[in-house]
Amino acid sequence: MTDMQENAAGETHFGFRSVPESEKARLVRSVFDSVADRYDLMNDLMSGGIHRLWKAAMIDWLNPRGAIRILDVAGGTGDIAFRILDRAPQAEVLVADINVAMLEQGRNRAIDQGRLRRLTWACMDAERLALPDRSVDAYTIAFGIRNVTHIDIALAEAFRVLKPGGRFLCLEFSHVRNPALAALYDAYSFNILPKLGGFVANDEASYRYLVESIRRFPDQDRFAQMIVNAGFGNIQVRDLSGGIAALHSARRI
Ligand code: SAM
Repeated sequence: MTDMQENAAGETHFGFRSVPESEKARLVRSVFDSVADRYDLMNDLMSGGIHRLWKAAMIDWLNPRGAIRILDVAGGTGDIAFRILDRAPQAEVLVADINVAMLEQGRNRAIDQGRLRRLTWACMDAERLALPDRSVDAYTIAFGIRNVTHIDIALAEAFRVLKPGGRFLCLEFSHVRNPALAALYDAYSFNILPKLGGFVANDEASYRYLVESIRRFPDQDRFAQMIVNAGFGNIQVRDLSGGIAALHSARRI
């Protein structure tokens, strides 16, 4: 069963709500419009800084080298792009995101850090990438695919723009396998996290959406199957922090 088949025809989920498919992108955009200026601070507060370890694990596994051309989709404020360039200064990274406010935060961070070369920012939907077929060496997406309306279409786009042999690497919240940890994580997610979002970002509803969208996202195995269905090979999965997050790696064979 795909993620989309759980909803009535023409509907999808937005957190725990059912909404018309045509509405979801606008709703997701409004979430990130609202949180953009507190996004980086909230990431650190919500995760106690652990998102940095997960992103470091992603870059370790990606292991970018030389003049590699990387597309970072849903790249937001540039966290993944900056880390790629720290590791591979000759890389070219295109940060694509549907939300202009998030891209502006990223561009401002880049200017503040004097990172003006090898980094391009583009407003683009993961479902309609304005890039030629077979044009990038690697496609990365961190905490983004969960927000996309049609995950299968985004995966097909990833496959299309990758060169043969190119690497797909996705970091996303996933499903905790240990029941005791899952209970603790649920209590934190549903009771504390939205309150923190209300207090720091003045937006409890957006952080409730975050928690709900994580619960609606397919587990490690189902998401791996969706990647296979998009045509990828060599699928590998690594759990992070007991499955709170997971990395899915694949190649366009
Ligand atoms: N990758 C960054 C990181 O790890 O810090 C940002 C992740 S943030 C949780 C999710 C991002 O996905 C937001 O910037 C949002 O605008 C973007 N996004 C949501 N739907 C998208 C879509 N259909 N296409 C491209 N970006 C999208």
